[in-house]
Amino acid sequence: MTELFRGPPCACATCSDLIGQGLARRGFLGLLTASAASLALAPVTARAQSSGGYKAMLLSCVDPRTQAPIADWMNKPVPQSHATSLLGKYSQFTFAGGAVGAIAPAFAAWRETFWANLAATVSLHGIGTLLVVDHSDCGAVGIAYGDAVKKDPRQELAAHRNCALELRQQLLTRQPQLAFQAWYVDRDADRNFTKWQVLAGGPEIP
Ligand SMILES: [Zn+2]
Repeated sequence: MTELFRGPPCACATCSDLIGQGLARRGFLGLLTASAASLALAPVTARAQSSGGYKAMLLSCVDPRTQAPIADWMNKPVPQSHATSLLGKYSQFTFAGGAVGAIAPAFAAWRETFWANLAATVSLHGIGTLLVVDHSDCGAVGIAYGDAVKKDPRQELAAHRNCALELRQQLLTRQPQLAFQAWYVDRDADRNFTKWQVLAGGPEIP
């Protein structure tokens, strides 16, 4: 598997920082192991060094229909969520289901990757909030809980809310210093994702 990762190192800020910490030659698997362990032990020091003004990590779904609506929402002030645009101020982790991907037993194999990435962005970017956006008509809910749940709006919303609340609970153990908020975006009559509601409220990001 490590054969896949012997190309030039990634040039993004996160990877550059990790490379700067002497992890570049260990290969991707080594990087994952080392970063998860070291970041868990030393996040406070790295946070104190962060000066980018970064505010949050966005957790959202892979669904192509939701990417632009969520980006638009992040990039403007939203009462109860963020007081100013978060453009350029947030990191992002995306996998199927958003909160459902992080919690549902069907996706258990993904969990530690999510938490390791959250630890990385906490250390490297000094973010203060985990901001979750789930959405209606999410295929991941069908995979995790069955199409009957996905097709019943009340059950569908409950599945997302339960996962968001469980994620908030687990955050208290994993990254207790982080604030948390979770949102749900539903489709309007034109099938556009424009109807936003709170799944789990948290402090507004200044
Ligand atoms: Zn989805």
